[in-house]
Amino acid sequence: MISYKELGLVNTKEMFAKAIEGGYAIPAFNFNNMEQLQAIISAAAETKSPVILQVSKGARQYANQTLLRYMAEGAVEYAKELGWENPQIVLHLDHGDSFETCKSCIDMGFSSVMIDGSHLEYDENVALTKKVVEYAHQFDVTVEGELGVLAGVEDEVSSDHHTYTKPEEVVDFVTKTGCDSLAISIGTSHGAYKFTPEQCTTDPETGLLVPPMLAFDVLEGVEKELPGFPIVLHGSSSVPQDEVATINQYGGALKAAIGIPEPWLRKAAESAVCKINIDSDSRLAMTAAIREVFATKPAEFDPRKYLGPARDNMKKLYIHKIVNVLGSNGKAE
Ligand SMILES: [Zn+2]
Repeated sequence: MISYKELGLVNTKEMFAKAIEGGYAIPAFNFNNMEQLQAIISAAAETKSPVILQVSKGARQYANQTLLRYMAEGAVEYAKELGWENPQIVLHLDHGDSFETCKSCIDMGFSSVMIDGSHLEYDENVALTKKVVEYAHQFDVTVEGELGVLAGVEDEVSSDHHTYTKPEEVVDFVTKTGCDSLAISIGTSHGAYKFTPEQCTTDPETGLLVPPMLAFDVLEGVEKELPGFPIVLHGSSSVPQDEVATINQYGGALKAAIGIPEPWLRKAAESAVCKINIDSDSRLAMTAAIREVFATKPAEFDPRKYLGPARDNMKKLYIHKIVNVLGSNGKAE
């Protein structure tokens, strides 16, 4: 058993309380490899933003959970080396699917876990989440629960339609489980293909496709029931159209992909939403940069020559999200 405190990590408690108070949100970026982690940490250190490093079940399978844990420990030291005196870094399990998975992460140094029982019957979700909370809280590890189902595909998590969170259930759920934050479903969705062009309308001024509006009334209903309680939004990538265009220009074959407009996320960040999950956007930024090198310098075969530009492009994206969308810059001096 290793405590996250020994690794220099923090849980989400204090940073969420400050984020709600201050009207901003903490970025939760998924990572699977070194370049992504370097980009996240250098972006957070440069902007002095608290940051949540997320590891999904797929990432644990891909990169090995032991290695990921040591990478997070290294990330804290790296942040200090970059001149960030008090790095506020959380290592979080994204979409924990069982008590055993959550326990194994807590035992090896994660400071926060999500238990996703959103696909279960309500009472089973309550029981599972409560069990994880009881274990986690012994070690001061924070727990994110979920009510409502998001559409889309993320690793093994997939659903073909939304089920919005019912505001009338949230008080009961939070009281019974004791969870520290709650992921809700208000129309965001997992993956790069959140909406088809047919589901969108065209903005007459810009000509851009606009997806169906998020259910801000559901968010407001939840906030009313649970004043000051930390709310989480999954599936909140915006699918930058310039990255999609670069990928397709250099041999990619992405279909029309539409994400959540950033002003909507900005609006959510100003509310009780204090954690916004972004994964697909960084995948797109990485792929775009690599494709460009492969297409324009076909003789190149040093991985640093294409992973380096990929890292730079992801860092640019993370800084943009922190400063222009979440507003978390300067909140962890
Ligand atoms: Zn998710």
